Amino acid sequence: MIEAKIKQTLRDVADFPKPGIIFKDITPVLHDPILCAEITQALALQLADIKIDVVAGIESRGFLFGLALAQELKVPFVPIRKAGKLPYKTIQQSYDLEYGSATLEVHEDAFKPGQNVLIHDDLLATGGTVVAASKLVNLLQANVAAYSFLISLDFLNGRDRLTSFSPNTFSLAK
Ligand code: 5GP
Repeated sequence: MIEAKIKQTLRDVADFPKPGIIFKDITPVLHDPILCAEITQALALQLADIKIDVVAGIESRGFLFGLALAQELKVPFVPIRKAGKLPYKTIQQSYDLEYGSATLEVHEDAFKPGQNVLIHDDLLATGGTVVAASKLVNLLQANVAAYSFLISLDFLNGRDRLTSFSPNTFSLAK
């Protein structure tokens, strides 16, 4: 089962990036090409009943499977990046972190009005990052069709913050 394989392969790193945090390191997953292919197929299978026009992946780990998933679904891929990284004209959305704030950006022509966008990232924690990404999608008058993650830390209740954008949140492992 894919959930068990992902959990066995992930590496928990204590005290990263700060003391007290146990970080889920996905780099061992990337080392296993067969598992990577299974993950891409499993992500696509979860979305089989949902109309998706574009996959948006969030910098930087959301790029890894985001592009693979877009190719599997045969739709375009859009990178949502941290401030100052995208070369063309952008729109921005700031969001709060535990200490301070961060800003995400997307190219102003990334989505067309009415498009159905899948937002993908490696991991869902509090949901702050994908809420900011969702606001970018809505600012360009596109819809959030669904969210997909490799891992969701459900004890942080991030899913609850996503329901006002889309009822569809999928993860391969909890
Ligand atoms: P949130 O905004 O949901 O609180 O945090 C999710 C964002 O932080 C994602 O972009 C994710 O990549 C990153 N993140 C937070 N904690 C972890 C973790 O333990 N492992 C990984 N791989 N990413 C994390």
